[in-house]
Amino acid sequence: MANEPVLVAGSSTEKLKAIVGETWVTGKRVAALPKDGLTSLIQSVILNYQESKEPFYVLDLGVVTSLMDKWTRTLPTVRPFYAVKCNPQPAFLGTMAALGSGFDCASRAEIESVLALGVSPDRIIYANPCKPLSHIKYAASVGVNLTTFDSKDEVEKIQKWHPKCALLIRIKAPDDGGARCPLGPKYGALPDEVAPLLQAAQAAKMAVTGASFHVGSGSTNSRAYTAAIEAAKMVFDKAAQLGMPHMSVLNIGGGFMSGQQFEEAAPEVKAALQTFFSNDQQPGLSFIAEPGRFFAESAFTLATNIIGKRVRGKVREYWINDGIYGSMNCILYDHAVVKCEALACTSNCENPTCKASQTYTSTVFGPTCDALDTVFTDYQLPELEVDDWLVFPNMGAYTAAAGSNFNGFNTAAILTYLAYMNPTH
Ligand SMILES: *Cc1c(COP(=O)(O)O)cnc(C)c1O
Repeated sequence: MANEPVLVAGSSTEKLKAIVGETWVTGKRVAALPKDGLTSLIQSVILNYQESKEPFYVLDLGVVTSLMDKWTRTLPTVRPFYAVKCNPQPAFLGTMAALGSGFDCASRAEIESVLALGVSPDRIIYANPCKPLSHIKYAASVGVNLTTFDSKDEVEKIQKWHPKCALLIRIKAPDDGGARCPLGPKYGALPDEVAPLLQAAQAAKMAVTGASFHVGSGSTNSRAYTAAIEAAKMVFDKAAQLGMPHMSVLNIGGGFMSGQQFEEAAPEVKAALQTFFSNDQQPGLSFIAEPGRFFAESAFTLATNIIGKRVRGKVREYWINDGIYGSMNCILYDHAVVKCEALACTSNCENPTCKASQTYTSTVFGPTCDALDTVFTDYQLPELEVDDWLVFPNMGAYTAAAGSNFNGFNTAAILTYLAYMNPTH
């Protein structure tokens, strides 16, 4: 199949099969992985598979496995439900499924894509507090029986169309000041709304089995988790006061980033769970989370081709074949700061990474005819030529997922090559 991603395997196909399952390996072309890392892997993809010079992603499954390892070692009591909206690339979802993750889906299509992997519906939480009727009916028909709510109207909808569904009350995190994308302005019950909402569910004979929150995506304030876990504890207490059955699920949402932020956030989460939930030793109490960015961001690298160049005085201007309406929409919507490295494999094949080359103030434009479609201004790059490449690391979170087909540049058509580099623990 021409459009099937080529699998660029690492150590062995057997190992890959063991990690991601047969489906993602069988029938794919497998090439040897160069020993010296990602840059030469990208070069070999360019040389061997990319005659058309379209942009492409490399997904390193080794990164995904080590992140899952890290999560399990650091927060062993908190089960991840990967947030599909962050990056729904099928092989990536397949890998997460094979690694035992649950899934946070927010729409019918997201539920369908997870069920298509053979994941059972009890590994899915429908974590959208405000759902279209038709999607609720669909969730009922396939047995996705856990969802979130933060309004009375939602309780009524769910009671009518999916009465067997268990509910988590989504509360507004008390503190999302440090987040790159706060979610509090849109979602989450305020403290004085909690009791009336619980009573509405009680009156509707709907089971509220726990509470959930989201401290905001790309959270930089680890204390936000502590405050939100404390607020969730108050919800558990309120439910008990109202004579409701004991709540059994605490969902701490997303907001995690791999790297230093996780090193700081995880101990806060652990300590807060210990402080506020250690007395709740009733059997069956479970902690879950909905990490998106944590697993997806660093696993994907994007390679783009330079399709145009103009020199204006000292400034070099380049056009590449992906941009703000494509993968780099993250600059607008996700407030991302992206970076790139030159891969001059056409103009400077002796030294494609341009080590020690002089750099120039450069502008990088995306391919559409809108001037807004500008990826960098005032960015330092070596002298490059048309047909060279720019390589963007850490492009897995909220990138292709929200790209468009504007001007006929179709983000969804960007291929993903799979690689497995040995995880470094
Ligand atoms: C977006 C979202 C997530 C994922 O957030 P990250 O910051 O990427 O971890 C989790 N849960 C819900 C309800 C979301 O809307």
